[in-house]
Amino acid sequence: MTARRVMRRKYCEADMGVSGANFAIAETGMISITENEGNARLTTSLPKVHVALVGIEKVLPKLSDLALFLPMLATAGAGQPITCYNTLYGGPRQPGEPDGPEEFHVVLLDNRRTELLADAEQRDALHCIRCGACLNACPVFKNIGGHSYGTTYQGPIGSVITPHLRGLQDWKHLSQASSLCGACTETCPVKIDLHHHLLHNRRNAVRRHPAPLEKCLQATFAFVMRRPGLYALAGQLARIAQPLQHLVQGTILDPLRPWTKTRSFPPLAPRSFRQLWRERKRP
Ligand code: SF4
Repeated sequence: MTARRVMRRKYCEADMGVSGANFAIAETGMISITENEGNARLTTSLPKVHVALVGIEKVLPKLSDLALFLPMLATAGAGQPITCYNTLYGGPRQPGEPDGPEEFHVVLLDNRRTELLADAEQRDALHCIRCGACLNACPVFKNIGGHSYGTTYQGPIGSVITPHLRGLQDWKHLSQASSLCGACTETCPVKIDLHHHLLHNRRNAVRRHPAPLEKCLQATFAFVMRRPGLYALAGQLARIAQPLQHLVQGTILDPLRPWTKTRSFPPLAPRSFRQLWRERKRP
């Protein structure tokens, strides 16, 4: 009731309502908006001007395609056979009609989507209907929530397309925040191969922007891992250094600051697996 009291007046006083759209219909020039609360209808019908921002991938050829897509969106997104409000908008208020805006504008957004369309390997990411099922299924996003990475599009599909829409170099880290378990791919109603797209993004990031420091660290890691004696020595040194690291954690003296400024460094086990194994084998 508080939301209704506060928000309703704002809807009535606003000069312009800005919405997105779930689908746009090429055959009729309409847009389709799906919601469960009714606030999109208030946004689109009370102000004098309605502006709809629609990504070009939302265009469906025919009105009859909605017979498939509306129930698919509702079922995958919220487990419902159909959502409460499904509205088709076809233009401004006509003479004799009581509701609706005086002006109606549809802005088709490209924002690098045509570049993604030209990418034969990853263009199927544009099939997404934004149902959110992959976000709900993902063990990472289930725990951290959808807004953690500051992206417009959240969840596994957000991690796949954000580097395409906003630049691979700045957003490549999103594709690393995944165990590649494939739960997202399994749940996607339009069968986007999400976890393989995350792998493609990782590969493309390494190819286009090789990081010499990262490469050097990986090579060192591989070198140590192949030499058991060196690995044991590195473990012992790390255990000696760890108390010192705790003292400087989060300060500018901390060499691991990019990691530790937002999270604690996991403590090493007091004794290694090898030590435990040796003790176990002792009579
Ligand atoms: S990628 Fe698939 S599961 Fe994820 S939001 Fe898009 S359609 Fe839904």
